[in-house]
Amino acid sequence: MVSNTQIHNFSAGPCILPQSVMEQAADAVRELDGSGLSLIEISHRSPAFVAIMAEAQDNARKLLNVPDRFEILFLQGGASLGFLTTACNFLSDGGSLDYAITGTWSKKAYAEAKHVGQAHMITDGAEFGFRKIPKLPRSSSADAVHITTNNTIFGTQYAGDPICDKPLIGDMSSDIFSRSIDFDKYACIYAGAQKNMGPAGTVMYIFDPAKVASQEAALPSYFDLKLHASKDSMFNTPPVFAIYTSMLNMRWMLENGGLAAVEKRNRAKADMMYAEIDRNSLFTGFADVDSRSVMNATFTAVDESIEPVFKQRCAEAGINGVNGHKSVGGFRASMYNALPLESVAALVEVMQEIERTHG
Ligand SMILES: *Cc1c(COP(=O)(O)O)cnc(C)c1O
Repeated sequence: MVSNTQIHNFSAGPCILPQSVMEQAADAVRELDGSGLSLIEISHRSPAFVAIMAEAQDNARKLLNVPDRFEILFLQGGASLGFLTTACNFLSDGGSLDYAITGTWSKKAYAEAKHVGQAHMITDGAEFGFRKIPKLPRSSSADAVHITTNNTIFGTQYAGDPICDKPLIGDMSSDIFSRSIDFDKYACIYAGAQKNMGPAGTVMYIFDPAKVASQEAALPSYFDLKLHASKDSMFNTPPVFAIYTSMLNMRWMLENGGLAAVEKRNRAKADMMYAEIDRNSLFTGFADVDSRSVMNATFTAVDESIEPVFKQRCAEAGINGVNGHKSVGGFRASMYNALPLESVAALVEVMQEIERTHG
């Protein structure tokens, strides 16, 4: 059997994590730091787990340079529940939210918000076949504007935090911890862990309590971000394994040069990947050049007949997860933070070899 250290994991999520993080997480399931107990059997009220939660928040604050006024939460329900939760918290009585539709996930966020109140679509990426990120128009009277910073499925990404005349709500599930964030522009960001932070099971919220909309009626408890903040993310039993492993991964990033180093590595990987997509006569990039995602590179074969050959050669080379999403087809190389440059080099080598043999 090939060990997972020999597999090049381009999976779009759940994502690759550093090997040392995997090992420490596995150890903690057996026994947490010499305590005689497993991470998954200790009380979440125990000093050991309270310290883990505190470090998770602290690491996120340090990595992203989060201003003090923002609260940091680790909850359950994934980003998909975040669609509803953010709408519940930032939509005022009789107010509305604006949604920039740039892909599959933002469409879902918009649909969920309609369960809560007024939601409007302010850009529709379908006009461009979701190949690019349109500029945000001026926002009329909305309480806030929701964006999806990286479109995991189409492989497009905002080049930075967009200019907006309203506070932004950002779904950053697939590019959290890939670059710095200008928090002055945001009321809230949120990210499901399993794309670029840790295992599935937790979603991180970073929000400004002062920007939560005032509403007559109390929110149902689990949707109330301020309630969760008052309980330090322990309103109910937190997903301890996902939080612990995410904490380890954030610690790893801090010890390996922080976000600046992560960003540099990601840029190098994306440059290598897109250079090959552009150079290789057998493949063509999906997204417009200035909207390309650093995290997920989407591309298609010029001639479909080479698709099976490419898939076969990838499998032989230990390259996992480059199939495109079923709704788009083609290929997608997800280059999350922990993917080494050598894995991109291995994929590029396969693409070049196929060009030589089938070009
Ligand atoms: C995967 C993904 C989601 C859904 O995340 P879940 O945690 O599975 O609910 C939402 N938004 C984006 C951008 C994603 O990539």
